[in-house]
Amino acid sequence: MSTPQHVVIIGAGIVGAMSAFHCLAAGLRVTLVEPETPGASQASSYGNAGWLSSHSVLPPAAPGVWKQVPLWLADPLGPLSVRWRYLPRALPWLLRYLAAAWTYPQVERTAHALRSLLADAPGLHQQIAEQAGVAHLIERRGLLHVFLSREHFLLDAKAWEIRRKEGVNWQELDAQALAEQEPDLSRQYTFGVFVAETGSCRNPGAYTAALIHYAQAQGAKLVRAPATGFRLEQGRLKAVLLNDGEVLCDKAVIAVGARSKIFASMAGDQVSLETERGYHAAVTGTTTGPRVSTMFADCKVVVNSMDNGLRVAGQVEIAQNDDTPNWRRAEILRDHLLALYPSLPRDLPVERVEIWMGRRPSTPDGLPCLGLASGSQDIIHAYGHGHVGLAGSARTGRLVAQLATGTPPEIDLTPFKPTRFR
Ligand SMILES: Cc1cc2nc3c(=O)[nH]c(=O)nc-3n(C[C@H](O)[C@H](O)[C@H](O)COP(=O)(O)OP(=O)(O)OC[C@H]3O[C@@H](n4cnc5c(N)ncnc54)[C@H](O)[C@@H]3O)c2cc1C
Repeated sequence: MSTPQHVVIIGAGIVGAMSAFHCLAAGLRVTLVEPETPGASQASSYGNAGWLSSHSVLPPAAPGVWKQVPLWLADPLGPLSVRWRYLPRALPWLLRYLAAAWTYPQVERTAHALRSLLADAPGLHQQIAEQAGVAHLIERRGLLHVFLSREHFLLDAKAWEIRRKEGVNWQELDAQALAEQEPDLSRQYTFGVFVAETGSCRNPGAYTAALIHYAQAQGAKLVRAPATGFRLEQGRLKAVLLNDGEVLCDKAVIAVGARSKIFASMAGDQVSLETERGYHAAVTGTTTGPRVSTMFADCKVVVNSMDNGLRVAGQVEIAQNDDTPNWRRAEILRDHLLALYPSLPRDLPVERVEIWMGRRPSTPDGLPCLGLASGSQDIIHAYGHGHVGLAGSARTGRLVAQLATGTPPEIDLTPFKPTRFR
């Protein structure tokens, strides 16, 4: 019997965890290289909003969004901002970000590609969570978008039309239906859109950790160290390098989220990847909140009742990976939460509010990088999922296993090619 191929997965966030899960299922030998505790607060996979939003198919930009650029620069606490001193570094990415969604046909192409990655995400996550013994972490109760009025919803009609073209259906709720479904919600919101096909995760950090434990129980090794590069000989991968040694392997997967660019470059590909920092605030010890996780169109936040509290997540801040967090942003989220659910206590003691900053690994077109590296067919790119990394991780893991075993990928990977930024 031949020895199974050995794949080293660099990074144990949700994408690395899902890659491990599927590579093991495909019969490969797996080693995960990760310096921190898997699923802990360094990972974007820890503190996200938990949306398994198979309908999140629109790129982050939209035609005409360039008109808002002066606002982003002027308001450092707005829902999207760019730190001035980082602007020269971020500029090429920002220009690509605007260009990638300049016209509606471009947006439709992105939506089609994202739909191929995200369709069935709640079902895929449910199956995987069941297998890993954490079925309770995945809920399939749909997701809700709320608007101040139907007129506000209609301002976004084009986006919903594109979703409809991709097979997304929804139910519209008038003020009365919304108030019945969401009794704690502020009455300012008079229109809702309920998307039944979607789902959510009750604790994304615990989910990631559980998948890594499951992978270890299936024979995966976890090396607690940062990876530093690759040892290649004539285009063939020999090892993944660590500070004080190396792990011999046949294949490697780059899954270090927002820190993937440097590894992509070492694998021969110059990718456009920025950190879109986001924040959350979570209030513990309350039963107030949404019955179904809710996105607020006006303030661009998501609220989700989770195992570890009532979490409000959002904000986009383009800044250097290691810049200090601006905790004022998390306070803004907390203040939004108090306004959105007026029966929450006003005088929350600090120990009841957890705050967090995370790094979305974001490409300018909103599509992750998935595919073989130019410098070696033994290295697989699997990062850049931006706002949909949790939802998209389940199919990403399957695709990674298909690429690692030379099986034809189950979806067309052309739109996700890491070489598309040349
Ligand atoms: C506020 C916010 C809300 C969000 N809401 C949602 C949502 O509702 N739904 C959704 O689908 N997505 C959401 N996202 C996006 C989602 O969280 C990310 O896309 C996803 O977690 C990315 O996963 P990842 O595994 O690629 O990266 P990460 O989770 O960041 O994991 C990368 C791992 O690599 C490790 N690493 C770093 N350097 C090295 C190295 N040198 N060697 C080895 N390992 C290394 C890190 O320690 C980390 O554990 C949200 C993000 C934010 C910030």
